[in-house]
Amino acid sequence: MTKHPPEGLVQRPDSYFRRKQRQIQFYLTTTFRLHFVHFLLCFLIIGAHMAVMYSPIMMRFEYVVLDFFFRNRSPIHQHPAITHIDIAEDSLQALGRWPWPRHNHAALARILREWGAQEVVFDVIFSEPSTSFDDEAMIESLQEAGNVYLPLMLESFGKDKKWIRPLPEFRKAMKGTGHINISPDSDGAIRRVTPFVEHDRETHPYIAVRVAYDYLGESLPEAGSLPFPTDSKGDIMINWAGKWRETFTHLSFVDVIKSYAALKRGEEPVISPEQIKGKICVIGLTAVGLTDIKANPLEETYPAVGVQTNIINSILTKQFVHPASKNVNRLCLLVVGVLVSLIFIFFRQVFSFIVGLAGAGVWFAFTFAMFSVRGIWLFALNPMLMVFSLFIFSAVFSMTIGRREQERLFNLATRDGLTGLYVIRHFRMLLNEAVVEARRKKEPLSLILTDLDHFKKINDTYGHVAGDAVLRRLSALMTEVFASENSKKKERCPISRYGGEEFIIMVKNCPLIDAAFNFGEKLRKRIEQEEFIYEGKHIPLTISIGVSSLAEKENVPDLMVHRADEALYRAKNEGRNRTCIEKETGEAAS
Ligand code: GH3
Ligand code: MG
Ligand code: MG
Repeated sequence: MTKHPPEGLVQRPDSYFRRKQRQIQFYLTTTFRLHFVHFLLCFLIIGAHMAVMYSPIMMRFEYVVLDFFFRNRSPIHQHPAITHIDIAEDSLQALGRWPWPRHNHAALARILREWGAQEVVFDVIFSEPSTSFDDEAMIESLQEAGNVYLPLMLESFGKDKKWIRPLPEFRKAMKGTGHINISPDSDGAIRRVTPFVEHDRETHPYIAVRVAYDYLGESLPEAGSLPFPTDSKGDIMINWAGKWRETFTHLSFVDVIKSYAALKRGEEPVISPEQIKGKICVIGLTAVGLTDIKANPLEETYPAVGVQTNIINSILTKQFVHPASKNVNRLCLLVVGVLVSLIFIFFRQVFSFIVGLAGAGVWFAFTFAMFSVRGIWLFALNPMLMVFSLFIFSAVFSMTIGRREQERLFNLATRDGLTGLYVIRHFRMLLNEAVVEARRKKEPLSLILTDLDHFKKINDTYGHVAGDAVLRRLSALMTEVFASENSKKKERCPISRYGGEEFIIMVKNCPLIDAAFNFGEKLRKRIEQEEFIYEGKHIPLTISIGVSSLAEKENVPDLMVHRADEALYRAKNEGRNRTCIEKETGEAAS
């Protein structure tokens, strides 16, 4: 029993500012360390994702997303000059099986020239001599046309590599050349072209690059200083305009030949010379099964000759895929990683899960928008995968180490070392909150103050260690008596060590008399009945109790505490081992 309650208890409820200040202090000293460890581990995860983001498996995943972007964006603008002349099934049926006699090609080149084609590109390497009649016809046609490009190719023979190129006479007569080497990615899809291939002290541009620059009347750029974006290996990512059949103009080889003949006969042609005038005509074998049919992000079967027109289109319309550099992709990963880590560290799991999910979605939408609007290819999947691993890690962390550590720190700050009951500072906070709640809900609130009788004598007779054992036993009994009111979820009767051998208990939603009889008396009787044995000796224990409750107009607990203290004082004076209620309301209960 004290005449004056400990200083901490009878303070005004904390101001908002003071509460915040205390929270910040708590954070800085305890929780901060935990968050720091959490963040450090998140940072390691971010680092691990950064390390593997360019690994083949991750690249494969990114390509899946890139392919998705290609399939789902609207078709890009196509330059009207670009025209395919397809050697498809109809042409093979009409003109015979492949390979054709060269006079067919010679005839086409001559017709295209006559009809005013700007550039003519054959996707056929005329590397071996054929009949002298055919070769002569071809040379003559190439010379006359003066606008025909023939490709070459670097081919591997075991370890050796060799340029496969057109016959020397053809090379003299053609307008230009370029390579047609394309190597698909490991999944078999074509996504890139090497702008310049070098071998044997010879460097050749990709044929479409040469044709596009000639068409623009600009000089071909140097291999080292390309005026367009490339990926980390220096390749041009192909900016697929759309599906094979749905993009660029497609004319049939045989239809051109037939139309020319029809015009000569004065008949209506299928293809008119206007369709050829000023165009870039790319001639290639497109019959399925006969030629270079590869997969691209849009289609399973896409003729490789189409790569040329897509590259020409990119250069003429200045629409490129801009792959973000490794550093930009890493920076994005870092920024996204740090942001979501902070969210996962500082917010509750459900909220952070929603934010994490939304964040990943926003990132995906952002990368798709960047790709479809500006052609910028940022990694989409790596950051999303990282968000996922950070979430899983954070959830596991806070469920295990975090929760345990937080509980430990909270107990350290709020519980008394000897008895395990609340320290008075924490109890005061709970009491202030309970007063506010009681006022708001218009519910009664009572207070039970207890003091062990003749405790000094126990200490003097059996020693302080025995006294401590008594205090521990006493607190265990109190916890037991109020256990049914204090579940893990809700704590109706918080118990605190008020000081020395005094304890204080609040009883929420309980009027004075109920508190005195149903809780105070119950507690007193339970302790009286306790057979406390210390080192073989029975130590009788009794407590005195003072009970008070919140008066109608009270908004702070101070006076209620005073009244409980006064009641306790009376209980002591009236002979101890009894419960007294506050004076204003009535007499001693026991
Ligand atoms: P009464 O309350 O019945 O008037 O008599 P009392 O002998 O219990 O008197 P009081 O409540 O004033 O005594 C408090 C004693 O509790 C004083 C102090 O030695 C002892 N005490 C306080 N804290 C501890 C503690 O942590 N351990 C032990 N062993 N004793 C403590
Ligand atoms: Mg005392
Ligand atoms: Mg006492």
